[in-house]
Amino acid sequence: MFNPVNSRVSFPQLEENILTWWKENNVFQRSVIARKGGPRFVLYDGPPTLNGRPALHHVFMSVFKDALPRYKAMNGFYAPRIGGWDTHGLPVELEIEKQLGISSKTQIEEYGVDRFNELCRKSVYGYMKEFEEVLERCGYWVDLDNPYITLKNEYIETCWWAIKKMWDKGLVYQGYRVTPHCPRCGTSLSSHEIAQGYKDTEDPSVYIKFKLSDKTAANLPADKPLYFLAWTTTPWTLPGNTALAVSPEDEYVLLQGENDYLIMAANLTGAVGLDDYKEEKKLEGKELVGLEYQPLFNPHEFDVELLKFQEDGSLLAQEIDNNLTYRVISGDFVTMDDGTGIVHIAPAFGEDDYEAGKEWGLDFVQPVDLQGNITGTYPFAGKFVKDADADVIADLKSRGLLLRSETIKHTYPFCWRCETPLLYYSKATWYIRTTALKDRLLSGNEEVNWYPEHIKYGRFGDWLQNNIDWAFSRERYWGTPLPVWHCESCGEFECVGGRGELEKKEGFSGFKEPLDLHRPYVDEVTFKCSKCGGQMRRVSEVIDCWFDSGAMPVAQEHYPFENETLLEDGRFPADFICEAVDQTRGWFYSLHAISTLLFSRPCFKNVICLGHILDPKGEKMSKRKGNVVWPMEVMKKYGADALRWYLYTASAPGNPRQFDEKQVNEVSRRFLSTLWNVYSFFVMYANIDDYKPSGNSPAPEADLDKWVHSELNQLISDVRSSMDNYNPTEAGRKIEMFVDGLSNWYVRRSRRRFWKSENDDDKLSAYNTLYHCLVTLSKLLAPLTPFVAEELYRNLVVSASPDAPESVHLADFPQSDESAIDRQLSEDNRLAMKICSLGRAARSRVGIKIRQPLAEIHVGIASEHEKLALDRVAPLVMEELNVKELMCDSAEKVAGMEGKEYSAVSETGNSVAVSTYITAELEAEGMAREIVHRVQNMRRSAGYDIADHIYLYYEADAWIMQSLSSFADYVMQETLTREIIEEVPDGVDLQETYKISGYTILLGVKKAK
Ligand SMILES: [Zn+2]
Ligand SMILES: [Zn+2]
Repeated sequence: MFNPVNSRVSFPQLEENILTWWKENNVFQRSVIARKGGPRFVLYDGPPTLNGRPALHHVFMSVFKDALPRYKAMNGFYAPRIGGWDTHGLPVELEIEKQLGISSKTQIEEYGVDRFNELCRKSVYGYMKEFEEVLERCGYWVDLDNPYITLKNEYIETCWWAIKKMWDKGLVYQGYRVTPHCPRCGTSLSSHEIAQGYKDTEDPSVYIKFKLSDKTAANLPADKPLYFLAWTTTPWTLPGNTALAVSPEDEYVLLQGENDYLIMAANLTGAVGLDDYKEEKKLEGKELVGLEYQPLFNPHEFDVELLKFQEDGSLLAQEIDNNLTYRVISGDFVTMDDGTGIVHIAPAFGEDDYEAGKEWGLDFVQPVDLQGNITGTYPFAGKFVKDADADVIADLKSRGLLLRSETIKHTYPFCWRCETPLLYYSKATWYIRTTALKDRLLSGNEEVNWYPEHIKYGRFGDWLQNNIDWAFSRERYWGTPLPVWHCESCGEFECVGGRGELEKKEGFSGFKEPLDLHRPYVDEVTFKCSKCGGQMRRVSEVIDCWFDSGAMPVAQEHYPFENETLLEDGRFPADFICEAVDQTRGWFYSLHAISTLLFSRPCFKNVICLGHILDPKGEKMSKRKGNVVWPMEVMKKYGADALRWYLYTASAPGNPRQFDEKQVNEVSRRFLSTLWNVYSFFVMYANIDDYKPSGNSPAPEADLDKWVHSELNQLISDVRSSMDNYNPTEAGRKIEMFVDGLSNWYVRRSRRRFWKSENDDDKLSAYNTLYHCLVTLSKLLAPLTPFVAEELYRNLVVSASPDAPESVHLADFPQSDESAIDRQLSEDNRLAMKICSLGRAARSRVGIKIRQPLAEIHVGIASEHEKLALDRVAPLVMEELNVKELMCDSAEKVAGMEGKEYSAVSETGNSVAVSTYITAELEAEGMAREIVHRVQNMRRSAGYDIADHIYLYYEADAWIMQSLSSFADYVMQETLTREIIEEVPDGVDLQETYKISGYTILLGVKKAK
């Protein structure tokens, strides 16, 4: 006996029970250990950042991460999976700042870095619990009892080791460069972070006049003031202007107005719109180079420091001359696409500007502090840069230096965390020289399989192609401290690659128990400078948290301090990683970069790159918009399998998807319920017939059985090749099609064989076949819908054969028996299914129910080959469509029969026409079938067992009487009726009045003893 199956199962409840059973029986651990000795399959778990509740995209990634190792384990691979948590970084700090109601670094330091970091630590542990619950609930099998956590001392120590290794290779340096800087967070952002924060925004668009200085060139008029016209969208950078750049090969023009002259690019005058000016003469860009102009804001007057680029690129303070002038320089970055062809250069802001400063030895003015506020004594000093824009414009206007001011919509980078506009700010930052290994980064990418494939040379390849050095220091608190110490006396820098190394330094002092490598404790560690004996103190920076997560292949194992054989024993590189597409610039990149820098080889072989999850309207989910879907709620409602199935099969994994809860419900109804109905149908009849599966299933007899065996073996082969190609989506879709065919063709066509086959061999063949299909399905489904697979398997297999593995996840993945695949049978049935579907459509067009027998059907076919197939399946089609005769013709001819006595429907090469003329005899037979249908319903309502025999009573008019008596044998056989009796007496078990095609009939049933 199988356990009875509730046809109205609650999947969420079923899953809860299975989760408990898994836990109590250590099934995950056992599924790993059972394969020890097999080839390794390595998954690197991309660590979620613990700075918020687990969201839908976490489940999306987790279920894809889950499917492959489960599949591999069932194929004999040893696949331990270590979970991980990303715990450092600005996101966590921001959360605590919000909690404390503070918003600046000064406030954090007043509060105390030790207390602040303690709150950060507590906060991430707070989120960990909820993450564990969600990941477990969705069936993601990963070891969360011994996860790697980036805040642990051991983890940090490996990061230090990695940085030291790069340092020793000369790959770490401090550069004074322009970096994108968030003034609110007070820290630099890396280029992959910036890539995430571009937004459309409105900014000023202003045309500024820079006055040519008095000691001017001979070929220009001097009767009226002459100005260079430049354009900017960041007026706040104008106090930092120290040069104008032109394109040497392009044409410029001198324009004369009523009171002044203007110079700008010849091609752009139309776009700027200078109706009041007329052209004096053309000039070449290079003629302008070297001309001098008066500063808009003389640094001397506004009490800001003036520096100057030296030949080696360094900056030195300058005395300010009251007669300060700046120069026109040439720049190949000057384009004729927009603006005026004259670019305002402020070396303190912007990469081109800074590089031009170095190249031309320009002056350098920094009128903005790291909080983004204007310094000095400018009229707008103290204001945040963006707020100062209007004042700068007004100030220039009052001095006649503004030609025009408008606003413009363009894209500008914002901080991806706090949404403050970023400033391109020049300051000291620590870099990893990734560009030195660009070729290896690119060739390493050649060794990686990307799914979808276009990411390889698209998003990821482009990113590597345009690689720039990794700005990896952060002027923050909660992160892996940068292990660089600096001599206060001689300026020497030293990088330290581990705790032991640090403790061995001469004059070391600092660590206290319990050891914590974070700030502020690590900042107290000092030692003696090996050069001059002075005191070495740590620099203040921490590192980019993407470095932490990218170092996980080694840091999760505390390599090389432990697990020294890591690189040789099969745990490196990973066979498989999976995250969302934004990680091409995040985790995918940091993994690849660190591995290449350390070991000169990639650390993953296969990547599934998932699209983003959007809301049903296609908008990004965010807490602010209130359109976030919490995965736990979805799983509580529909179950994890339904959500998993939706995530695997609804669209290709790389596509963005608009998540609609209704679709999860739909998937559950369409796929899981169909599967469940077949399963519960099987168990119900198997228990009635006391069916016992035999160890080796006998060869199928009936064509239908042979057909489904053929389809099943084809499915096994398809699912295997899809999963081997990292394509759970295709595997799932194939399974879904099979289950549909199993339910709507195999079971539908075989139904009667189960409940009343007189031929025992045929019945057994049907049982064996369906049993085999369901058990095989449970194994094919195990990696995708692990819960329902477990339920099927345990009830169908474990309860019947106690020697079998206890869980489907301990079983072996099915192997296809190619010899069972019969292509002709498969094509025959495909044709039969298609003809039946067309036939049903032709009937429903004219409103004739399937229970009404019809005289004939004409089937239009496309080829001789199809005609032969149709001959083979004709009996089946006639029975299924309830017609007495089948005729075959060309598709056009049949389609043309549509009209008074036929209803025709066509589809790609085939057509079907059913006769709509119904004789009295056909009508009577139809009535008999209607009555059978009603009696079946009554049997169910009365609660009879499938095998119970009954007496059938009726009261109706003469025509119905006649129909019933003509088809009495049929009715009795179908409804297990011993006798049909006219008149419904008192004491029947159930009686009902029905109206069928305008006739009224009273029916009564009573169980036979
Ligand atoms: Zn920010
Ligand atoms: Zn020193």
